[in-house]
Amino acid sequence: MGPAQTKPLFERVALIGIGLIGSSLAHVIRRDGLARHIAVAARTQTTLDTAKRLGLGDSFTLDAAEAVKGADLVVICTPLGAYKDVIKVIAPALRPGTILSDVGSVKETMRRDVTPFVPTGVHVVPGHPVAGTEHSGPESGFAELFRGRWCILTPEPGTDKQAIERVEELWRSAGMLIEFMEISHHDQVLAITSHLPHLIAYTIVGTATDLEEHLKGEVIKFSASGFRDFTRIAASDPVMWRDIFLANREAVLEILGRFTEDLTAMQRAIRRGEGDMLQSVFTRTRAIRRSIIEAKQA
Ligand code: NAP
Repeated sequence: MGPAQTKPLFERVALIGIGLIGSSLAHVIRRDGLARHIAVAARTQTTLDTAKRLGLGDSFTLDAAEAVKGADLVVICTPLGAYKDVIKVIAPALRPGTILSDVGSVKETMRRDVTPFVPTGVHVVPGHPVAGTEHSGPESGFAELFRGRWCILTPEPGTDKQAIERVEELWRSAGMLIEFMEISHHDQVLAITSHLPHLIAYTIVGTATDLEEHLKGEVIKFSASGFRDFTRIAASDPVMWRDIFLANREAVLEILGRFTEDLTAMQRAIRRGEGDMLQSVFTRTRAIRRSIIEAKQA
């Protein structure tokens, strides 16, 4: 526990999954003394051993039900595709008054796969810290990951106010700015700001991978001309991103439809030599970059 903190925010926090996000959160909780006990659950012994070696918790188990026993905060930090299995295992061990949260990138998954199976008296406060890197696993985490970024909370109307406030306080300690959103709105916003860019990056890098051998070598050699930035995004965890596209199907397809229309318009402008059209689009997009820098999100 940190010296400044007399009573920690939580007695026992259970982290289900200890990859990039779970381990970064563990670092924050440790640093600021936000919990008396951190219980860590993962799927494989290798991950648990690494988490133990890094001192990311006080107890380590392959049994998520064991981890949540007596916890006043449980945070699901697994890929979205594991949520159904996780809630099946932990539901019988959740006691009334416990706060159940998560860090998933698509919030509909909590509403559909988790909330219906949560025992009465458990407060569901889903969250999404919009911060990340292309790395995964317990060794990639660091407390500063969250600083200055947004954390979006999506509790349903009528959720216990105190429970929401405690989750807010947790993420504020991590240095995050808090925003509340309705679930489907969150999923639409993230479809354009995060999911579509990842899909584009995966596709471009995939296209390059399929090139003839003599071109492939040149792609690597001259990657600094633009391609390199896409490869960083396209190096993100394949399982996590598979789950995001499956979970946010509707919103991604909607935004992808708009994108392909715009791409076709660009294709036509290039074919017809419409330089004015290209220049006007590129000028508008430059302004967005400036706004992001001004909002300190660059
Ligand atoms: P990660 O580094 O791949 O870690 C995933 C963790 O979940 C691992 O510890 C894994 O354990 C564990 N896990 C998988 N299935 C499990 C199960 N059935 N029961 C218990 N543990 C299980 O993933 P991450 O990047 O931290 O992402 C975790 C969540 O955060 C995802 O839902 C993602 O959408 C969200 N998120 C990610 C980012 C990002 O940039 N990475 C940003 C914001 C939010 P094993 O290693 O033992 O398999």
